Amino acid sequence: MFCVNCGIEGEETIDGLCLECFLKGKKLIRLPHHIDLFRCTNCEEYSVKDGWVQKDLNEAIEDAALTGLSAISEAKVVSVATMSERQDDKTFVVRVEADLDIGGRLITDNDSTIIRLKNTVCKRCSRQLGNYYEAIMQIRSGSKDLDDGLRDEIVRYVRNSVETQAKNNRHLFIGKVVEVVGGVDIYISSISMGRSLTKEISDLYGAESKESFSQAGTSSDGQDINRLTFLIRFPDYHTGDVVLFDKRPYKLTSLNKAGGKLLDLATFRETSVRKSDLSSLKVLAKKDQLLQAIVVSTSENEIQVMHPSNFSTIDLRIPEGAEISETVTVVGVEEEIFYVP
Ligand SMILES: [Zn+2]
Ligand SMILES: [Zn+2]
Repeated sequence: MFCVNCGIEGEETIDGLCLECFLKGKKLIRLPHHIDLFRCTNCEEYSVKDGWVQKDLNEAIEDAALTGLSAISEAKVVSVATMSERQDDKTFVVRVEADLDIGGRLITDNDSTIIRLKNTVCKRCSRQLGNYYEAIMQIRSGSKDLDDGLRDEIVRYVRNSVETQAKNNRHLFIGKVVEVVGGVDIYISSISMGRSLTKEISDLYGAESKESFSQAGTSSDGQDINRLTFLIRFPDYHTGDVVLFDKRPYKLTSLNKAGGKLLDLATFRETSVRKSDLSSLKVLAKKDQLLQAIVVSTSENEIQVMHPSNFSTIDLRIPEGAEISETVTVVGVEEEIFYVP
């Protein structure tokens, strides 16, 4: 074979030309004149082919330039190097140098493009800012108002859980948290997340839950949305409370899917109660209503303490191996005082 241009004889020709003649004056790589790079002004993430990602500005600019890179079909891009130069806040010139393999020879070429930084709001942020939600978790208490401490605990639980899951799914977020009479409403962006959180919380606290269709609507970006409400009704009792069960005082030590565990304050034996029996628990003292009594003396199974209201010295049974400090937690049930482990 010989080159139709220079006539040199060689092993291979491209389009009838030797490699020298083929490459002469030819652009091997090309970049478009400019490329628009979109950045969300709210979360500051950059738009890439299949979504939004967190990057630093330089990386985002150079990556954007490479998305526009094309090489002639005879070339295989072996490696690229990028260098960017800032023109102003929103304009950057990026020069790309590429090593190419053409017919087994390594050849370098370069080109440059202008990256124009454009502000926008990503879909997730526009939903979040537009108060988008698919589910409302209504947290309520059995009878009285929802206890403030419990309310904060539940809101924190939901926030942590959503934050963790949002790391793998950026469309999960809490829209708003609204305190209402008798409890709190948590607006969240996903029905399935609302459902799983409702189940988790109900199991954890022995709460009753109910799911209902609330309304269908259209989101600000024009999509039909179904909305569900998850009502979570907390029982009057919570872990740590002293309750009356079968006419005896117990400390409620834990709650779970199946029911709960009670510690008998007279014998310090633990028993399990089924979920269906929990409704018969009567709260004698909330966890934060328990009293402190000053310890006067201690012996193996008993301590002497000062009665918290009339200051007489009384004997209290304690469980084996209990660690007794200067004061102990007690509860008064009718006329009697019990040690609460
Ligand atoms: Zn030639
Ligand atoms: Zn965003």
